[in-house]
Amino acid sequence: MILEAKRVDLKKPKKYSDLRKLKQDATGPLNPGENYYVHPLPLFPLKVKDKRYRYKEFHLDVYNLRCTCEDQIAKREEYQDRDIRKLCKHLYYKISSSWLKQYVDSLSLELLKNSVFFGPEHLYKYEYKKSLIILGFRSETEWVNVYAPNIHHPEEHKRYSFNPSTKRWSYNSKPEYGILFEDVIHRLIKNTLTFEHHGLKKGYLNG
Ligand SMILES: [Zn+2]
Repeated sequence: MILEAKRVDLKKPKKYSDLRKLKQDATGPLNPGENYYVHPLPLFPLKVKDKRYRYKEFHLDVYNLRCTCEDQIAKREEYQDRDIRKLCKHLYYKISSSWLKQYVDSLSLELLKNSVFFGPEHLYKYEYKKSLIILGFRSETEWVNVYAPNIHHPEEHKRYSFNPSTKRWSYNSKPEYGILFEDVIHRLIKNTLTFEHHGLKKGYLNG
């Protein structure tokens, strides 16, 4: 029998190996939790279907969310359907800087932009007083993204960021119901997240 050494992919979120830490989570070990969410990019109208674009040496089929770059080929293996995490920066640039932008809402664009430039997030979705709020976690950072209605233009979504270790909002900019979501973030990190958040590892969030 040939035993193959398992390669550890450092880019992938680290899973808990100590199940005692998960006992307080009623939804069970490694269950991403009931609010875990995958955000789909809206469908483009049919007239986009036959359009083909080029970005540098890459060929883009925006309707089917395909690009010929290596990054997108790998992401297609990992993410399904219209999951925004499937897109590469070429698709993002094409969509966000052309007539195609009109078919994508502000929330999808913010989520897409962040995924493309900073890496895929674990998303959790909440509705509170008719507002749609999405929390985005990444294993490499303490900061948690809070996608919420823009406090100055509530018809649009904006990305806010909160650091649960220092209890600071980036640029001191906080969305409506921000304090409530500080608590939701804290509980998600302690009980639900399927990877260990930096703040928990460093002992900031044990209280
Ligand atoms: Zn690409």
